[in-house]
Amino acid sequence: MSKVNVKVISQKGTCEAGHQVGDEIIFNWDTHKIEGTICLHALYSMLPKIYALAHGADVAFAVAEDGSRVARHACPDGWNPVIFELKKISDT
Ligand SMILES: [Zn+2]
Repeated sequence: MSKVNVKVISQKGTCEAGHQVGDEIIFNWDTHKIEGTICLHALYSMLPKIYALAHGADVAFAVAEDGSRVARHACPDGWNPVIFELKKISDT
């Protein structure tokens, strides 16, 4: 029914999971699959936002470069900051 796209928009220092700008991960509620690889430290902390977006909650408080509303989330590793942009994507 719904998918949430998670995209790396900023990465500094050394990410232990190897994330780089442009990485994309898709959380698919139809297949119960996570498409892509994601740092588990980042995942545990951002999962509530992903869940909320997937179920229609309005937690998208930021504006992406293309003007769409998104949620942003920073990896808890403050020395090596990775910032993710979370967006509900419509199904086809
Ligand atoms: Zn991480």
